[in-house]
Amino acid sequence: MGRKYVYSFGGGKAEGNEGMKNLLGGKGANLAEMAGHKSLKLPVPPGFTVTTEVCTYYYENKKSYPKGLAKEVLDAMKGVEKLMGREFGDPDNPLLVSVRSGARRSMPGMMETILNIGLTEKTILGLIKQSGGNGRFVYDAYRRLIMMYSDVVMEKAAGIEPKDDESGIRKQLEKIMGKMKQEKGCKSDTDLKVEDLKKLCALFKSKIKEVLKKDFPDEPNEQLWGGISAVFASWNGKRAVSYRRIEGIPDEWGTAVTVQTMVFGNMGNDSATGVAFTRNPGNGENKFYGEYLINAQGEDVVAGIRTPAPINEYSKSDHDKELVTLEKTMPKVYKELFDIQNRLEKHYRDMQDIEFTIEKDRLFMLQCRVGKRNGPAAVRMAMDMLKEKLIKKEEAMMRVSPGQLEELLHPIIDPKAEAAQKPIVKGLPAGPGGATGQVVFSAKDAVEWAKQGKSVILVREETNPEDVEGMRAARAILTARGGMTSHAALVARGWGKCCIVGCGALHVDYAGRKFSAGDKTIKEGDWVTLNGTKGNVYVGQLAMMDASEENKILMDFLKVCDSIKRLGIRTNADTPTDAKKARQFGAEGIGLFRTEHMFYGKGSDEPLFMLREMIVSKTEAERKKALDKLFPYVKKDIKGAIEAMDGFPVVIRLLDPPLHEFVPRDPAKLEQLAKELNISLDELSSRAAALHESNPMMGHRGVRLGVTYPEVSAMQIRAIFEAAAELLQEGKNPYPEIMVPVVCDVKELKDQLAIAQQIYQEVLTKYGIKKIKHMFGTMIEIPRAALVAGKIAEVAQFFSYGTNDLTQMGFGFSRDDIGGFLPDYIKKGILPADPFQTIDQEGIGELIKIGIERGRKARKDLEVGICGEHGGEPRSIEFCHNVGMDYVSCSPFRVPIARLAAAQAVIKEGKRKKPA
Ligand code: PEP
Ligand code: MG
Repeated sequence: MGRKYVYSFGGGKAEGNEGMKNLLGGKGANLAEMAGHKSLKLPVPPGFTVTTEVCTYYYENKKSYPKGLAKEVLDAMKGVEKLMGREFGDPDNPLLVSVRSGARRSMPGMMETILNIGLTEKTILGLIKQSGGNGRFVYDAYRRLIMMYSDVVMEKAAGIEPKDDESGIRKQLEKIMGKMKQEKGCKSDTDLKVEDLKKLCALFKSKIKEVLKKDFPDEPNEQLWGGISAVFASWNGKRAVSYRRIEGIPDEWGTAVTVQTMVFGNMGNDSATGVAFTRNPGNGENKFYGEYLINAQGEDVVAGIRTPAPINEYSKSDHDKELVTLEKTMPKVYKELFDIQNRLEKHYRDMQDIEFTIEKDRLFMLQCRVGKRNGPAAVRMAMDMLKEKLIKKEEAMMRVSPGQLEELLHPIIDPKAEAAQKPIVKGLPAGPGGATGQVVFSAKDAVEWAKQGKSVILVREETNPEDVEGMRAARAILTARGGMTSHAALVARGWGKCCIVGCGALHVDYAGRKFSAGDKTIKEGDWVTLNGTKGNVYVGQLAMMDASEENKILMDFLKVCDSIKRLGIRTNADTPTDAKKARQFGAEGIGLFRTEHMFYGKGSDEPLFMLREMIVSKTEAERKKALDKLFPYVKKDIKGAIEAMDGFPVVIRLLDPPLHEFVPRDPAKLEQLAKELNISLDELSSRAAALHESNPMMGHRGVRLGVTYPEVSAMQIRAIFEAAAELLQEGKNPYPEIMVPVVCDVKELKDQLAIAQQIYQEVLTKYGIKKIKHMFGTMIEIPRAALVAGKIAEVAQFFSYGTNDLTQMGFGFSRDDIGGFLPDYIKKGILPADPFQTIDQEGIGELIKIGIERGRKARKDLEVGICGEHGGEPRSIEFCHNVGMDYVSCSPFRVPIARLAAAQAVIKEGKRKKPA
């Protein structure tokens, strides 16, 4: 037998299952699981899935189909007909189907769906009969098919690009419908009568003929194949392609197509459709949460055109509390749904996002998938499910991505600032956290303004999948329409973005580039602040703050990470304040204290002046005098950092940058300096000019300074030992590690070690103590150092990889100027990613491995860490774990992310060793 392209499901059976996502797409695989798994056998309308392999074939073979597919589709359709007791195209008792897309990973709203396929002039009467004589319903279904089909199949899939927003076929048909509603005095679509709808369908068809120069197909099979092809075509549609780029979904995956019996949520007031989550995706609470619409089709809920009602009391918000719940209107169906969602969650052992339809009081499950959630909800669900013993701790740790964790570390509005303000409008809290920014009204503007470095809030009537890039670029999204499951809400939640939807009182005026709420008008470029956790919108720019410290669940979650991870997590901190912050985030020491940072920023005037004196000194005596003055400042800073990390190691790096970086350019400063040194301005200028280098990053810097000016190293080393000695005498537990930067040969290190040893003895004597626990080591940031690491480790007790410079010198790419060519390198696939963000494992990674191997051969207990920016990047952290580093070091805010990434690295390693 050849390859199988079509998999059927329904009637308590299925050919596929949940494990076949690659072939059947997420939707197809889960439908098969729900329909056929022995512990589920849920009421799923029968259907079949055409595999992703057909999509791949379609693109590889000039948009044609493999041999045998048509017959498989026909046979599968026969199976469905049998189960339903209806026939596709039968004028008396027709079967109608939906055609839906479904990739391996969900891409909400990015690809096409067509409903009511099989409805033609001939089958209309049959459907009226099936619906118990409901002609209104049938013509409404027909007009929906015509609208969707002409838009998706006849226009988009055919590659027709309307010249502007207004001339697309869908917009034109909507206009006709709007006009008719106006003429008939109808407020909503449902007010249109059967005769109106009949007329509307005819008007639609002639418009289609006029605009697209083709007849709307009245033949069921033509509709079916048109639909299937359109779904495959939508895989390469503009918005699907942008979404894939953002989410890193490979183009080769392709989409599956699921053809499924139509069930109707719009057959009257005993019918409904809805979307629900087995737990609240907004905050993670273990409560059934969802929305529904009476007498509607699924597209109405997702499109956000009508504001849906809550399914139960719990799902109510300020916004919809007047609406009647499903639990009240259809208690029996609600109970059945509640029971099913319980079973689904137990079965999948994760929060499920489900779509259901009720046709004449009968419940059908249309979809289930692992529900998207934001960071706070992900952490809460993981911890709750761990406590409920639904999952093990390793699984709980894998349930939260480092990116989601990052959301918890993002700002909220400062509660004090917020308390002083009144919201101008309220909406549904679709994506939590706070954001402040300038208002824009189109996705395009959002992208452009963000590119200029502005913080923007994208305000839309409602969003649709075309807005995806703008939504990505915006700090937050605000919409006038839509519910918690509307497109904007779904997408924002997936990205952990602050988002408010369904602000009914908000009126958007695109043409005037403004919106109003009550008596307030906000123009493009005005600042607003959003509280996405409450759904409040404020005028102006409110103060933000970080919310992570008080989050007990987050702290518990990170403790579980710590119980799994092996890598130590340290921080790069240059001030006692940063060090304290990092301790709160769980840092186990400082991996990089850049001494030079005390010469920048707040409070740096005095020490900087002395440093400058030192730099422009001509004689050793002059230099020593300046260093003596500088000494207490350096010691105080170092002491503060070691104290904040009491008991944990603190890596203090000796002065690294080229000296000329500190030479003043301001004439007033130069004059002051000349006066202090008692030299002429000319003399000072010539001394400063002498420091100039053509290539300072590879010039007189790091250890090279210490070699030419040993007294500079001596001063810093003395400051370190004296700070530690004082702390010891104060009953503290200091642990400094002295780190020499920019080393390329062991002899440089020996030179500096001699200084350190001498000063160590002097300090011991001065303080009358026997020992100061410390280490002496180096950075590995020059490729040569990695290669001669064996020799270096004879002197160095530790290595810390400076992957910023190692990448710079390994690639020969200037770390400050890569922006000029990186985008082209990425676009052309020469580089997979920015090597300054994520370690280039193939090249730079190899240098790291060689260094560790050779280093540890010479010194078994060599401590190895990383302090380049990569130390806070999840993929690089995994690499550091795999090559056997002892710790990573990153900025304070990345410490929690590093703790999680380090735990996940252990879990992934376990999976590699013991495949499931
Ligand atoms: C490095 O080079 O990776 C490093 C940490 O040092 P700096 O960024 O200060 O050069
Ligand atoms: Mg460096």
